[in-house]
Amino acid sequence: MANALITGGAGFIGSHLVERLIKEGWTVGVLDNLSTGSWDNLDLAQGPSLIAKTWDVSVPWPTEKFDIKWDVVVHLASPASPIHYQRLSLETLRVNSRGTENAIEAALRDGARFVYGSTSETYGDPEVSPQPETYWGRVNPVGPRACYDESKRYGEALTMEYWRRTAIDARIIRFFNCYGPRMQLDDGRVVPNFIRQALLGEPLTVYGDGSQTRSFCYVSDTVEAIYRMMTGSKLAGHVINIGNPWEMTIREFAQAVSAAIEVPLQIEYRPLPQDDPTQRRPDIQKAEQLLGWRPVVDLPEGLIKTIRYFRSRVR
Ligand code: UDP
Repeated sequence: MANALITGGAGFIGSHLVERLIKEGWTVGVLDNLSTGSWDNLDLAQGPSLIAKTWDVSVPWPTEKFDIKWDVVVHLASPASPIHYQRLSLETLRVNSRGTENAIEAALRDGARFVYGSTSETYGDPEVSPQPETYWGRVNPVGPRACYDESKRYGEALTMEYWRRTAIDARIIRFFNCYGPRMQLDDGRVVPNFIRQALLGEPLTVYGDGSQTRSFCYVSDTVEAIYRMMTGSKLAGHVINIGNPWEMTIREFAQAVSAAIEVPLQIEYRPLPQDDPTQRRPDIQKAEQLLGWRPVVDLPEGLIKTIRYFRSRVR
C-alpha cells in the first residue's frame, strides 16, 4: 500500500491501472486533460482513495495540486491511436516531451519512483522480428507517425538521462498493441473498428492487403505488468517490452473477430496508411526474467470480454 500518481489515468490503460491500485489499497492521484480519456472510465474506482484532477500535464502542476507525497509516478498521458495522435499532433509532441519532464520533476520532488509508458512504436517499421529491447528501431522522423514515435523516443531519452544524472529510480515500459474494454468505439484502431463493424453487420475495413502483423495483449495482462514494474525492486534504468507474442496478420485478426461475433467474414480493402509498420511482435524474455511476467489471457477469451463491453455501446 502506497501513494501513486497516474498521468492519463482516465484513459484506456490508465483507468484499468487506477482500478487495480485502488483494489490493492493504494491512494491514487490522477491527472488527465480528457483529450482522449473520460472520467466515466473511473466510475468503478470512485471513493476516498481516488483524487482525480483535470489538468494538462504538459503544463507543470503546482505542488499544492495534491496535498500528498507520491511513492510512484506513472506517466501514461498521451493520445495513442494513430487518428488521435495525428489530430492532436502538437499536443502529443508536448505531452511526451514537456509532459514527461514535468512528471519526472514531480517524482524527483517527492523522491518517488518513475515509470514511463512508452510504446513499440519506438521500433517504427522494424527489420527484425520479434523486437528485443536492444533493437534501435527504424522510424521516419518526419512522417505522419513521427509526432508519436519520435516524442516517445525523446521521452525515453529524457527518462534515461534523468536516471543517469539524478538519484531517480526510473523505468521504461514499451507497450505493444493492448486491447480491452474502455477503448473508445471511434478511436480508429483496428480492435474497436473491427468489433464495431462486425456488430453492425458491416464489412471489416482492412488497410492494405492485411498481411501486416500485430500482436494483441489483453488489458488485464498489461496492467499486471505495470503493477510489477511499479513495485518490483532493482529495475531502475531498465526498458522492458510488454505485449503478447502471439503474432497474427490483420486478415487473420479480421477472421478472429468475425468468428467471435459469429458473423460471416466480409472485408472491404482500403489503402494502407503511410509508414504503417509491416510487422510487430514483442520479444518478452526480459519481462519474463525480470518481472516473472507473461500474458495469460489468450485472444479468444480477451475478444469475448471486449465484445461484451462494445455490444452495449454499438447502436
Ligand atoms: N487497420 C486496419 N483496419 C482498420 C484499422 C487499422 O486494417 O480499420 C490496420 C492498420 O493499418 C495497422 C493495424 O491494423 O496495420 C493496427 O492498427 P492500429 O491503428 O490498431 O494500431 P497501430 O498498431 O498501427 O498503432
